[in-house]
Amino acid sequence: MKVSEILATSTKAYPSIEIVPPLRGITKHELLESIAPFMEFSPKYINVTSHRDEFEYREEPDGSFSRHLLRNRISETTVCAAIMSRYDVETVPHLICGGNTREEIESRLDNLEFLGINNIVALRGDSMTGEKRFTPTPGGYRYASELVEGIRAYQGSAGYRRNRKTDDNGRYFCIGVGAYPEKHFEAANIETDIANLKKKVDAGADYIITQMFFDNQVYYDFVQKCRAAGITVPIIPGLKPLSTARQVSMLPESFSLDIPIELTQEIEKSKSDKDAVYQIGTEWCEMQCKDLLRHGVPAVHFYTMGKSGNIVQILRSCF
Ligand code: FAD
Repeated sequence: MKVSEILATSTKAYPSIEIVPPLRGITKHELLESIAPFMEFSPKYINVTSHRDEFEYREEPDGSFSRHLLRNRISETTVCAAIMSRYDVETVPHLICGGNTREEIESRLDNLEFLGINNIVALRGDSMTGEKRFTPTPGGYRYASELVEGIRAYQGSAGYRRNRKTDDNGRYFCIGVGAYPEKHFEAANIETDIANLKKKVDAGADYIITQMFFDNQVYYDFVQKCRAAGITVPIIPGLKPLSTARQVSMLPESFSLDIPIELTQEIEKSKSDKDAVYQIGTEWCEMQCKDLLRHGVPAVHFYTMGKSGNIVQILRSCF
């Protein structure tokens, strides 16, 4: 079922779970075991992130350059297939502009459709290690809005429509996109960022998932601004429980977000006790989740980052 249909027909808010594909070396069994704890909550779907392979170029004795793979993860499509073969759950792979030409994106769409997957989250992707700014792949897309447009155009083409089960608008894929309640770090201001978010929706995105935040008021204000800007699609809040004292400085640096002083002070007091910090982060997230549910959000998206213990605790107390 498409996420848009789930959002339109669910009578109760539900949790969605996002996992990161493992680096090479992890077995399928290990991956499936790592998500087994979430099955207790019968998730409606599982998001699987997408990551660009990283290469380095080495000069050969003849002056030519050869390309070598430095770091790569199992592809999101393979992980989705593994999850669907083991559990009765839909998967939502992420699809990024970075590292893909337009034709390669089309090939990825064909692979997903082959597996019966009709949900995607379309993103630009981050810059490569060592790159200050995101550089589009030659022949690829610069912004997520262009990617959404490209997916819709591909689906609208006569060759694509043949034999595909599309909706009344000729759409096979339901598309989610990302948003930043505290502004994307490259945007000059939140208004410009929201105007760019609207381009993604106007291009055909069906719903939005937000970056993690630690102060719910930031999300409520953001939703209000989006509605005022004419964005009407569902906006699913994204949460991640803080789990180590190090994340107090790491998360703001990596994701350009604020952590409220009440939370940082509590963590500071307990920073020598790992278990206490973990519990403080978990309880804060639980409090955020309960408040969001009281405010009537349609779903809550959890960034698991390969860990399940704290999220299972939150899901047990909130859903
Ligand atoms: P865009 O919407 O393209 O925006 C990027 C920047 O460009 C913003 O500052 C925006 O304001 C600006 N912009 C957009 N359109 C225009 C325009 N037309 N003209 C001028 N400026 C414009 N990363 C991964 O690598 N893999 C993942 O699986 C992944 N999953 C994610 C899931 C969620 C829910 C979120 C919120 C983020 C995820 N990310 C992922 C991170 C994301 O790729 C980065 O944050 C990236 O820097 C921006 O992606 P985007 O799709 O929001 O980009």
